[in-house]
Order: sequence, then C-alpha cells, then structure tokens
Amino acid sequence: MAKRDYYEVLGVSKTATEEEIKKAYRKIALQNHPDTHPNDKDAEERFKEASEAYEVLSDPKKRSAYDQFGFSGMNDFQGGAAGNYSNVYRDFSDIFGGMGGGFSDFFSSFFGGGGRQSQGGSYAEQGASLRYNLTIDFSEAVKGCKKEISFAHKIKCDTCSGTGGTGRKTCPTCHGSGRVTSGGGFFQMSSTCHTCSGKGYVIEKPCSTCRGTGTVNKTEKLMVTIPAGVDNGARMSLRGKGDAGLNGGADGDLVIFITVRPDKYFVREGNDVYLKIPVSIAQASLGASIFVPTVDGEKLKVDIPQGIQSGKMLRVRGKGIPVLRSSQRGDMYIQIVVETPKRLSLKAKRLMKELMEEIKETDSPEPMEFSNG
Ligand SMILES: [Zn+2]
Ligand SMILES: [Zn+2]
Repeated sequence: MAKRDYYEVLGVSKTATEEEIKKAYRKIALQNHPDTHPNDKDAEERFKEASEAYEVLSDPKKRSAYDQFGFSGMNDFQGGAAGNYSNVYRDFSDIFGGMGGGFSDFFSSFFGGGGRQSQGGSYAEQGASLRYNLTIDFSEAVKGCKKEISFAHKIKCDTCSGTGGTGRKTCPTCHGSGRVTSGGGFFQMSSTCHTCSGKGYVIEKPCSTCRGTGTVNKTEKLMVTIPAGVDNGARMSLRGKGDAGLNGGADGDLVIFITVRPDKYFVREGNDVYLKIPVSIAQASLGASIFVPTVDGEKLKVDIPQGIQSGKMLRVRGKGIPVLRSSQRGDMYIQIVVETPKRLSLKAKRLMKELMEEIKETDSPEPMEFSNG
C-alpha cells in the first residue's frame, strides 16, 4: 500500500501551525490508542501512521525536508553517522533527482552542523555536514562514472584524540550552558559565552596541534562512484565524511550535489530523451532508413515512414536513460524536422513546379481554403 501523505494522515493543511498539528495528532492518538483498542489492527495501524506523521511534522527540520523532498527527504534523518567508514560508497539511498530550487533554505537550517547535544554534560558536538559541487557530462550521467574528488574537512586531532588538551573543566563563566545572559529586569539578553565559545567547558592545557579545538583540517581525496542514470540536481551522501564530531558527537556527512552538463543534441525529461532529426523533403515524402545517435553513443537505424510530417515524434522504446538502480531504461523520442531547401538551381525550381502540378491538392494533409498553391 502506498504511504499516505503526512498532512493527509493528520487531516491538516500544509500550512498548519505546530499547535494545529499537535491537536490533530492528539485526537487521532486518543481515538486509536492501543490501550483502549486491544487487538484492533486497524486502530493500531492508524495510531502508528499518525505517530510517524507527527514525528516528522512536529519537527521543523524534518517538516521542511518533507515539504521539499517528500518521503525521500526523510532518508537523511534515519540512522545517523555510522562508525564504519571503510565503505563510504555503500550508501546511495540518498540519491534522488528532480530537486528544484529552494536548497538554500534547507541548508541553512539543516547543514549548519556544529550543534551541541548537551546531554548529561557529555559535551558531545556534532560535526558539520559539508557540501561538494560536482559537475559531470551528460554521457557520464547516462553511463555512470567514477570521479576523484578532493575536499577539505575537519578530522579528529591525533595529538589529543579530539579532546582539545588536558584539564577540561566546566566553564566558570556560563557554568556549562554555553550561553550567558546579560541585562536585567525585563530585558534579559542571552548570547554565546565568550569564555568557552559556547562549548560549555574550558581546557587548561590546550593541545598545541589543534589549539584546543580538537580537530585539524585535512584535505582528502576520494573516488566516488556515480551510478548510471543520475539526474541533474541529484545528491549523494557520503556518511561520516563531513567534519568530525567531538566528544562522542556524530560525524557530519559529505553531500555531493551533482550538476549534469546539458547535451548538444539530447534533451532529458525524466528517464526519456528527446532528439531532433532533420530529414529532407524527399526522405519525408518517400520514407527512408536513417541512422540516429543514441545516448550510449551508438548509431541506431530507424525507419521513417513515407509521408511523415514535420514535428512528428517517433518513439524508440528502451533507448532512453537507465533508471537508477534498475535494469530498466526510459525511451527515446525522435522528432522529425523536415528541412526545406534554402537555395534551388533553375533546374530544381522547374522540377519542383512540375512536381507541384503532379501532386494533387488532396494529397496535402492539411489543405487550407485560402491555399494559393
Ligand atoms: Zn589536539
Ligand atoms: Zn562558557
């Protein structure tokens, strides 16, 4: 069964406020709670469905991702950084194409990174996710390719193992909160603590290698495998290849944004491609076998039926773009463009006139009343 839209599940509009979402969820949850409906599978399903929808829509980041990317936008929120980086190519689940504009909003909220997860005074700091822009050729997108990328990220400092030094203690200024309040009465202002830069702790003997930050910059090279069929605007996450997390915080991801250079001849739409092929008046009138290029760089023989009109589209099944992670392919559409000769010799003109007299008016596909043939 197809997954229902989260807004539909909760019965709220796309512009619903947090309060409206909460209210709608509470109502459904109460009506279908497993405690009050034991052994009622339908109620249990509704309860689960609503809980999942609420989990996403009640979180501004998840909601924003869902609004822009639908269910596929949720991939980024599952799991988290894994500890095993030996196989960074394993995770292509984040690839999805067809993303229009509006990245920047998503990124400002989601890719900020560096957030502190101050749980139980653990000082865990999440590593930032990084963006890498990669441009590939149309043919590389069709066939898939391997690309070596070079990028800089922050890795854990070896000298201090990411601790930043020795003698860590709770910041005396902010007492570990990372924030200080100033002013008095009604006008209290909260700002990042300057003593600890918001970390909540200070290091008495900072590591000389990383100057107490716990991380050092490193430029790395990686071979990235781009799968066949990838589309312009797709992105790929290399888990854990962003900035290193500190004190047990998760490492960020390296997110590769793919731009596909347009092709001179082929125009892609979904997994189909469109190609304009010029034919002469004679070929269009009499029919012909012609060779057309394919996205794979082959030459394909195509039969043009006699009497074909300019603008007519011929479909060649299975000669389009490979569907990502599938053995299927889209189709190729060949648009016929009948070319009218620009210059004619005297003889050609005479023959053309003769020809026009020979062709009866009824042979024209679209006779017009005002035709002055
Ligand atoms: Zn260090
Ligand atoms: Zn502080």
